[in-house]
Amino acid sequence: MKRFAALLTTTILISGSTVALAEPITPSDSAFRDGQTSLQTALKRAPNNGKAKNIILFIGDGMGINSVTAGRIMAGQTRGLDGASYSLSFDAFPYTALSKTYAVDALVTDSANGISAITTGFKTINGAIGVNGKVRPKDCATGLANRVSNIAEQAKRKGLLAGVVTTSALTDATPAGVYGHTASRDWQADTDMPDEVARAGCTDLARQLVEAPDNVRLDVALGGGAAKFLPKAAGTAGARSDDRDLTKLWRTQTSAAKFVTTARDLNAVETKNTNSLLGIFAPSHLPSVIDHDKFPDTPTLAEMTSKAIEVLSKNPKGYVLLVESASIDKWHHRNNAYRALTDVDELSKAVAVAVAKSDPAETLIIVTADHSHALAVSGYATREADILGLARQKGVNQLDKTGKPRTILSYASGPGEQDHEHELTQAEAVSPDFLQPALVPLSSAAHGGEDVPVYAYGPQAHLISGTVESSYIYHVMAYALSLSED
Ligand SMILES: [Zn+2]
Repeated sequence: MKRFAALLTTTILISGSTVALAEPITPSDSAFRDGQTSLQTALKRAPNNGKAKNIILFIGDGMGINSVTAGRIMAGQTRGLDGASYSLSFDAFPYTALSKTYAVDALVTDSANGISAITTGFKTINGAIGVNGKVRPKDCATGLANRVSNIAEQAKRKGLLAGVVTTSALTDATPAGVYGHTASRDWQADTDMPDEVARAGCTDLARQLVEAPDNVRLDVALGGGAAKFLPKAAGTAGARSDDRDLTKLWRTQTSAAKFVTTARDLNAVETKNTNSLLGIFAPSHLPSVIDHDKFPDTPTLAEMTSKAIEVLSKNPKGYVLLVESASIDKWHHRNNAYRALTDVDELSKAVAVAVAKSDPAETLIIVTADHSHALAVSGYATREADILGLARQKGVNQLDKTGKPRTILSYASGPGEQDHEHELTQAEAVSPDFLQPALVPLSSAAHGGEDVPVYAYGPQAHLISGTVESSYIYHVMAYALSLSED
């Protein structure tokens, strides 16, 4: 954690070469002084041109820049600090870029093309994963004909290990970015596939994860989605009709393989006796961390990340790990900013764990999003105003043109209603279940199409710079690992 603390430049006092300031420093001068500190740090920054032994790729699903800003403010305020000047863990990363996320066939991407571009270098159509742009929607034959390999598979072939951690079902689009090849993200279990698709030779994503050949199969997979891996005969948790128990296959096909279903069992896993680890902690997606009191044996993203790194880092040749905070996207779709932004903080904590448990000289850490969500942070509320609540100045509500109080956060679309008849109260607005108002009524908020941020730290991190295509991130990772070299 020491190394990471050193990255948090705003906490470092500098002396000597800085311009003398009039004393005393008032709070309004702190930005000026922080600027001097940041400049000194930037002047001393030297690119790490070394080879990356490990890559940890974090995806905040749906985490656009406004999600980062609002999530940062909420994280600071939750800790009793000034939210606006607070820093998330990855805010301290030295290199950033903007990523253009569009799909081959759409201005705004879904998570399937979003992750596929990042992990394979090929943009594809919305709904497709691990295939190039020649695939046709939900068409098995063109899916099979246009497969492209991903960074995890390529690393595995070079003797590295690979894993995935997510708060969604393991068969959801983003985690499938490191093992899946499909014309449809919906084909997660056999029961999700039309008969003609199965007859044409396509297999579901749960089978692709577990039945992948030894030389490319993931060594660690932690998340949700038990139903897709278990037969209906297993009880209510199973959704498969082909009688396959894929968790059993996982345990038997590798030596020292483990399968766990609770946080307690995950934390008890002895990594020295574990070569492959499957953890499935919910029938579908994992609950938001604020609901873990109702699901007390659910691991946090940071706990899963920690255990995954412990297992993978045993390999002297290194590893590739994808970590997804899926809940940001899931709750943005509902316009529930409280849970979505809480999960930005959860991602920040998981990144901090990764930084603390890896060596920055040999581990490239990238934090980005597959796409944005159309969250707005607007108005002129005072600094101490609760980011989730009403826009207020000195305790006085700012009013919309109908004379009703308005919230700081709102969405372009989704189920959150704009009720101009109702006088919204602060208590309602800051409630965990409150849905921020949306302009366009939709049952589920649509993704945002603007560029998303990319943060990088470690070997070759300086190549994350400028405005880039989402698919460029793959090339940086492949170059950093020297995958093209023998
Ligand atoms: Zn989404």
